[in-house]
Amino acid sequence: DYPELVAEKTSDEFVKNAWNGQEDPKLRVGCQVCEYPVPLMTDLTIGLVGVDLKQGLVLIAGSEKGEELLKGLELTAEDGGEAATKREAAVTQLLEKMKGIRQKFFEETTAEVGGVEKLAEVFGPCILCHNCQTVCPVCYCRECFFDSPTFELEAEKYLGVAEKRGAVRMPVDTLLFHLTRMTHMGTSCVGCGACEEACPNGIPLLKIFQLTGDNVQKLFEYIPGRSLEDELPLTAFREDELQWIGEK
Ligand code: SF4
Ligand code: SF4
Ligand code: SF4
Repeated sequence: DYPELVAEKTSDEFVKNAWNGQEDPKLRVGCQVCEYPVPLMTDLTIGLVGVDLKQGLVLIAGSEKGEELLKGLELTAEDGGEAATKREAAVTQLLEKMKGIRQKFFEETTAEVGGVEKLAEVFGPCILCHNCQTVCPVCYCRECFFDSPTFELEAEKYLGVAEKRGAVRMPVDTLLFHLTRMTHMGTSCVGCGACEEACPNGIPLLKIFQLTGDNVQKLFEYIPGRSLEDELPLTAFREDELQWIGEK
């Protein structure tokens, strides 16, 4: 969609909207409900939120590399300047607003897809094209388990299942695919929304993955994409964690 967006001068609109603290309806849904509208880990941040662009830009160094870059540009650092203070206030306001937007988004999603029956209904139109898995930036396997020979069944096997059960839904195992992917991805989903955008049947994947992802990530106090030093919850086992499970 990029050429179309550029032709519409969306970049200008985006900057204007950011400047005025407004949401841009042309942004992907994932961006509109992002928990981190301000980057956590960057060498250099170009501040747009709350910044009067006619006066200049706010550049924030987030690392030694960023500081070196600013020095290379021969820019002198200014802590607590007017523009930086204004931006800080606008960012605090934006984060508060995003919190409310996300809360509403999760409430609506729970009403829409909460529970096994609703989930089965929502995934009903899935044709198992695997687009959602292919475009996902953090679906991490060289070869997805679902593209492996395990799922290459011969026609006789399908006929056998159909005979036993009286019927077989094609494609088979759609829920298995989604629930397994959710288990693999839950802690790592960054909420980009690429899966939802790539789905030919309009399945609200971002909503589902963000709802489950948010719950599970908070449970493990894990923020995906923040640092390579953080242990992946799926690969780290701690004897003392989640002991309350089964006690309730
Ligand atoms: S929203 Fe999550 S599951 Fe969907 S593509 Fe992005 S990271 Fe993957
Ligand atoms: S769905 Fe699971 S097995 Fe397939 S690529 Fe993603 S993480 Fe790997
Ligand atoms: S992109 Fe949509 S139709 Fe294709 S496998 Fe994913 S959910 Fe199913």
